[in-house]
Amino acid sequence: MIFRAKYALVAPGEVRTDVRLELDGNRITSFNTGFVPGSPAADYNFGTAVILPGLVNAHCHLELEFCGGQVPYNGNFMDWLQAIRDLKRARGNTATAFPRDSIKQLLAAGCTTVVDHHATQLDWGAMSGCGLRHVPFKEYFEFNNHEPDADHLSSQAAQGFAPHAPYTASLEIARTCRELANRRHQPLSVHLSEIPGEIEFIRTGDSAQIIQLLKAADAYDAGFHGTGKTPIRLYADEGILNGPTYAVHVNYLADGDLQVLADFRPTVVYCPHSHAFFRHPPHPLPQYLEAGVPVALGTDSLASNDRLSPLHEAALVRRRFPQIAAAKLMELITSAGAEPLGWQGRLGRLEPGLLADFAIFKLDGDPGRGFTELFDAVLDDGQAALTMVDGIIRHTTVNPPNKPV
Ligand SMILES: [Zn+2]
Repeated sequence: MIFRAKYALVAPGEVRTDVRLELDGNRITSFNTGFVPGSPAADYNFGTAVILPGLVNAHCHLELEFCGGQVPYNGNFMDWLQAIRDLKRARGNTATAFPRDSIKQLLAAGCTTVVDHHATQLDWGAMSGCGLRHVPFKEYFEFNNHEPDADHLSSQAAQGFAPHAPYTASLEIARTCRELANRRHQPLSVHLSEIPGEIEFIRTGDSAQIIQLLKAADAYDAGFHGTGKTPIRLYADEGILNGPTYAVHVNYLADGDLQVLADFRPTVVYCPHSHAFFRHPPHPLPQYLEAGVPVALGTDSLASNDRLSPLHEAALVRRRFPQIAAAKLMELITSAGAEPLGWQGRLGRLEPGLLADFAIFKLDGDPGRGFTELFDAVLDDGQAALTMVDGIIRHTTVNPPNKPV
């Protein structure tokens, strides 16, 4: 299959013009620019359009599609978590097993890989054919469970392991998750340093809101009196950051945390719209980038976001942190989110030999060949005309093929 377009952002900061991308099966076999004498006609010619590597959403909860939109937030995070638990209970403690609408939305946004937390079991048969590279991480809670059964935990995880957070999963659960993840050669994923109460609770054992939540979940541990450490320091000291890790949110930094992150290099997953929804103070993103801490972007769930689109998240970062270069921003929604999975040599760029994951965005006008102008034009639109995952077209607004569009 051959695709033509006027532009391609082949990697962060790199633009090619008059591109011709050819696939064989699920691989990119050639990538040329300009006119190639004797080459066969393109199957798809998108004209004034931009081809990007497939976008990566580094944090989501697809099972929360049942919430049916954002769950109102009254300023108390524990109330919000409880509201989701209550919604789930009203459904007989089930969540969305096959999030059809979310998958469609992700593909339409040019997303090809989604890193997804699930507390319940999804419809794995349907998910395996959903079209996305869906990377599931089973979430574990049980703050009062100090003797977890590793075999039982392992039997619940289709792929990866995610202690929910330091204040909801016991240290023993988190350590077991790390060991199981390492055994399966998977990264770990965990919500970390998300709220100020979490830091306080892990340090001193004192947070009325967290204690209330744990009691309601029957997971309260009366023997917990704090560790004297921040959640980040604690996880580092306990070996839980030893190995590829998605450290989700990391909205708050206490003294010494930045150095720990720079030393252990988990991938911080910043979820800009969810962060804004919960009215957190500005995210320490510039500090992370400055310190060399890896960062990727995620959407979080539809319970705290109105859509699932890495580009939509990048557009908010562009407005909030205009000092961050467009090339860096592209990295945060392509290769950065795939690195903890060890996929950096397989996708995240457009070049021969790599997996055929890409998205094509049509342009209204022609912004010129500058990387920043083209990236900004894609951010403004945000809807893919075609999304290819593993060599298969999973979304297109173009019909029928074999014609210029
Ligand atoms: Zn989350």
